[in-house]
Formats: sequence, structure tokens, C-alpha cells
Amino acid sequence: MKIFKSARSRLTFLYVAVLALILAILGILAYVIFTTSISDQTDRALSEVGTSFETTARRHFEDVQEKKNVSEALSHTAEDVSFKNYKVFVFSQTRKLLWQTRTLEAEPNISTDTAQRWLNEFTSSEEANLDGFSNDREIFRVHYHPFKMGGSSFYLIVIHPLDEQKAYLRQIRNAMLLIVPVALLLTSFGGYFLAQKSFAPIAEMSEKAAHIHSSNLYERLPIENEEDELGRLAKTFNDLLARLNRSFEQQKRFMADASHELRTPVSIVRGEAEVSLTKKDRDVIEYQETIAIMQKESERMSRIIEDLFTLARADSGEFVPTLSSIFVDDILADTVRAFRTLGKKHDVSISYTQNGDMPLEADEFLLRRLFTNLIDNSLKHARSKIKIESSMKDGQYEIRISDDGPGIPLEKQDHIFERFYRVDKSRSSNSKSLVGSGAGLGLAISKWIAELHDGTLSLSKSDSSGTLFTVYLPTK
Ligand code: ADP
Repeated sequence: MKIFKSARSRLTFLYVAVLALILAILGILAYVIFTTSISDQTDRALSEVGTSFETTARRHFEDVQEKKNVSEALSHTAEDVSFKNYKVFVFSQTRKLLWQTRTLEAEPNISTDTAQRWLNEFTSSEEANLDGFSNDREIFRVHYHPFKMGGSSFYLIVIHPLDEQKAYLRQIRNAMLLIVPVALLLTSFGGYFLAQKSFAPIAEMSEKAAHIHSSNLYERLPIENEEDELGRLAKTFNDLLARLNRSFEQQKRFMADASHELRTPVSIVRGEAEVSLTKKDRDVIEYQETIAIMQKESERMSRIIEDLFTLARADSGEFVPTLSSIFVDDILADTVRAFRTLGKKHDVSISYTQNGDMPLEADEFLLRRLFTNLIDNSLKHARSKIKIESSMKDGQYEIRISDDGPGIPLEKQDHIFERFYRVDKSRSSNSKSLVGSGAGLGLAISKWIAELHDGTLSLSKSDSSGTLFTVYLPTK
């Protein structure tokens, strides 16, 4: 239903429904208790009237003046006593009406026939009894009171009309039927007002949240009270916004850095091409030099693009490594071999000390990439030697790659795994590099590869005597 679309209305409806149920149960319960108690009171009063009539009659009977005449005692009693709204009929043992008390003004007139008829309803027992009867217009409560006096049996029929009592109960019922809906109406207004007040901050939050876009992700929802539920909701939302903002900023920086890195080789290639085309009469050697530069820059671009592609796949979170049974030590030995020639060319010795077989289920291509990146970095900075050691330690494979280069300045060590982070900001192409793009992506990719295999890559030491990187890979 449309009206229940808002949580406010739903809450108010539920609240009023529960209250209506409680009031209905309480009302019925109170009414039943009240009715029962009034009926009990009436019955007690009826019995008391019967007893008091009998007591008065006995007193008259005992009176010396009366000379112990039962008939006179009873007729005097019937003349003397009168109980408002209670009428007493005296019957003989043969169930013949003897006397009756006076009918007061405004009291319903009960015919003797009626009294006689009701008496017959009670079986002639010696036990007092109570019952309810009605004629065409009214309902009565009737008390049957047998007693013995002067050797004869008598029956009293005490009658009490219930019309006053019924009117009283009707008044109470009507009052309840009026009070309950009014109370519910007032409660529903109050409930709706309270719900509106409680939901107002949510409405405000949703209004504010609707205006947050990629351009203003730094904006936050207002928090009135951090301790309450709404405050916690707003805080959770703000934390989410902060995370989104951070990753958005990272993406933006990544895009800016990537285009910046690609712009340089593209400009070089374009510049070289323009110069070659405009300058006439160039000799073959000049053309060859130009083409060599263009080839080198194109290669660099390809590496950057390949690195960016790898990182994009890593970021997507959907990368599934191609696992196969390999030997880590074999891959290390292969990688070292690939670098030997370049090392020799630059007078850098590369040694590999291996301690046993290192079987593993891993992505061979990615592991080669990891070791190649690390050895390539070492070669770029080593003075004369690179040492690679592999062993098994605490259920993990430990691979240590160290060089005797100048090391990484202490204040920069925390950043080297960040994307596009370079210690030396000048972009110089390094002839000692076999694979590096020089864009500052190598270590970020290497760390991701190690973590993809549930391992770690860390900088264990770096000072003026050299740098040591350690890779840990779990054996299973
Ligand atoms: P790149 O792809 O440009 O080599 P990396 O992410 O591999 O970038 O390395 C980040 C930075 O860490 C580089 O600027 C590099 O100078 C520095 N670095 C990496 N390895 C070594 C090392 N073994 N010795 C000294 N500096 C290093």
C-alpha cells in the first residue's frame, strides 16, 4: 500500500496496532473483572436482605407483645422493612404467597404471579440459592431463602432489578468505546510526530548523500551524535566515502602518472621522426641512429604498457594465476643465466647458491617476472657483484637477492613499492637493464606476484654497502 511506503507510516501503524491490541485486551479484562465484582456485590446484598428479613421476623416473633405468633411477626416485618430496589416475597410451605414488602416509588412493579413463577424455578431445598430471571422488559436477580420459624417452613424470594446495574455497565462500555479510539488517534499523531523527528536525520543524510558525486567525494555526512545508531550509520557511510575517495584519488594519480610516463617516449619518437623528415640529405648512419632511438623508445613504451596491463589485471581482483608444478630453484637458475652476459658486460658477477630442490605449484611466467625484476634492479645498481641464495626456512622458501650497490636512501625506502615511485626522479634509460621500464612499476608488480602466491616480498636491508631483497613463498 502506498501509504505504508515510508518507514515513518509503517512504524506509526505498527505502534498504534500494538497499542490497540493492548488497550483492547486490558479493556476487556477490566470490563470482565468489573462485571464480576458488581455481580458478586449484588449477590451478597441479596443474601444480606434475605438474612436481615429473617432476623427482623425472628425478633418480632420473640417479642413478648407478639405472643409468638408467626403470621403476625412476618406480616409486621413485611410492613416495617423496606429495602430500596430489593423486594421480598414471603411464601408458605405450600408455596402460597403470604406477604410482600412495599414497592417504593420508581421501582419496577413485580407481579405476585411472576414471583410465584420464579419461586417454582427453585427446587424446594433447604439451601439458599441465587438465579437470574427476566420478564419482557427487565432482568432480575432472584434470591431464594428458605427458613423455619415457629415450627413452620417459609420461603423468601428476594428480587433485585438489574436495570440500574446494566445502565451503569453500559455507561462504562460507552466510555471505553470512546476513550480507546481517542487515545489511539492521539497516540498515532504523537507516534507519527516522533517517527518523523527520529527519521529526520536519515532524510537529511539521504539528501546529502544524493548530492555526493565523483567530483565532491571529499564531502561528508553530518554526524550529530557518534554514539547513537544514526551517528554510527553516518560514520560508516563517511568511512566508505573516505575509502572511495582514496581509491578514486589513486586511480586518478595512476592515470596521470601512466600518461605522463607514456608521453615522454611518444614525444621522443615523434620528435625524431619530425627531424628526420624535415632534414634533407641525411646519411644512412644518421637514419640508423634515429631508427635505433625510435626502436628503444618503442620498446620502453611496450614495457610500460605491459606493466600497466599487469597492474590493471591485478587491480581487477579477478586475476587467476596459471598454476603448474615447477621448481623455484630451476626458474632462479634460468633467470640468473639470462642475466650473465649483461652482467659480464658491466663487470658484475652474478652468483646463485642453491640449497636443494624447491618444488611448488605456481604461475611460472609470473615467478620468472618477479625474479627478473629483482635481479634487473640489482644489476642497475650493483658495483661488482650480485648474490642470489635460495633455501628452505620455517616451512617457506626463502630467496635472497643482494647487491653491493649504493643502497636506497633511508627516507625513500618506505616508498619503493609504490606505483611509479622512483628513487632517482630523472628518467635516464639504463643500459644495465634487461627488462625494466624505468617507470617505477617493477617493485609494485613484484610485490603483487609474491602476494598472489601467498608469499611476501620485502626490503631486508639497504645501506651504502648494498641492498638485500627477500622473497618468502609458502611451500604449499
Ligand atoms: P623501476 O621499474 O623503475 O626499476 P622499481 O619499482 O623496480 O622501478 O624500483 C623502484 C625504485 O627503487 C627505483 O627507483 C630504484 O632506483 C630503486 N631500487 C630498486 N631496487 C634497488 C636496488 N637493488 N638498489 C638500489 N635501488 C633500488
